[in-house]
Amino acid sequence: MIDRFNRDINYLRVSITKRCNLNCSYCGAKKEAGVELTPVQIEKIVRAFADCGITKVRLTGGEPLVRQDITEIAQRIANINGIKKIALTTNGIFLKKYAEELKKVGVTAINISLDTTDKEQFRAITGYDGLDKVFEGIDECERVGLSPIRLNAVLTKGRNDNQAESLISIAKDRKIDVRFIELMPFSSDGERDELVVTGEEILKSFPDLKPFIKDGTTDFEKSVARYYTAEGYKGRIGFITPVSNRFCSECNRIRLLSDGKIKPCLGNDAVYDIMHVIENEEGLRKEIEKIIMSKPREHSFSCGYGNHHGLNLIGG
Ligand code: SAM
Repeated sequence: MIDRFNRDINYLRVSITKRCNLNCSYCGAKKEAGVELTPVQIEKIVRAFADCGITKVRLTGGEPLVRQDITEIAQRIANINGIKKIALTTNGIFLKKYAEELKKVGVTAINISLDTTDKEQFRAITGYDGLDKVFEGIDECERVGLSPIRLNAVLTKGRNDNQAESLISIAKDRKIDVRFIELMPFSSDGERDELVVTGEEILKSFPDLKPFIKDGTTDFEKSVARYYTAEGYKGRIGFITPVSNRFCSECNRIRLLSDGKIKPCLGNDAVYDIMHVIENEEGLRKEIEKIIMSKPREHSFSCGYGNHHGLNLIGG
């Protein structure tokens, strides 16, 4: 569906839980589950979204793999007419267990959050000694043929800004894209502008990286991530720069939160409740159309830090 600013809103991110098995400080404090949508409710809402033009769904959280009904949720979504692509964003801890089932029910793309390749740093950032499990999960994704596999890293000054090289080397050796996402102002622990490591700063340190060209073009204008690569690399290096270089005019996303609220813009506090119409197919579709039309022109991160909910609540 085309919104007020001529953007085709076709990508729904579904946060299926606020719960997470890790506790990354920049993401927000651990949350109680609260009310969580059931697989059937999620299916109803996603079907209404599909009727409004959504073709791609990403399951996220909190940590989506803490829900034991994750496979049922993915399968129900896969069966909805109009949904062409289902992706998952996870911290990877439980991925070894679920990768094969998820692939079987139709999940294709997997984003795995990984901020460091150092065991001790991983424990310090996440509060859990789980780096080996994440790598086992990545191996399993490759084994079962999930594709594309992307690693998403947030570098923060003084915390893990020494990790760019070792993360980039993963893309050198494996057909995995490694993407650096700028720290956004969602934290509960007082993150500040000066902690942000920008895409530009990382790029400067790796002069061998050149824009990734496919069919004669970089795709920089069309994609949220700007991709680079270097001679001999199997994967690509991506930069997602919502802070230093906003991409609101290209934004095709809308979010469903784990309690059934809809959030049209990641960087804006407006949320809309739709649970009063969930049993009314037409009412639900009309409500969703209205909400898509309310999506603001651009995010308001520049309003300052601490004004937003943590990403663990919204779904990253
Ligand atoms: N638990 C899943 C995971 O770890 O991928 C999904 C949810 S998590 C909120 C999704 C992503 O949001 C992670 O890659 C995390 O690094 C990122 N994230 C969390 N807080 C962020 C912030 N303040 N700025 C930028 N990215 C953030």
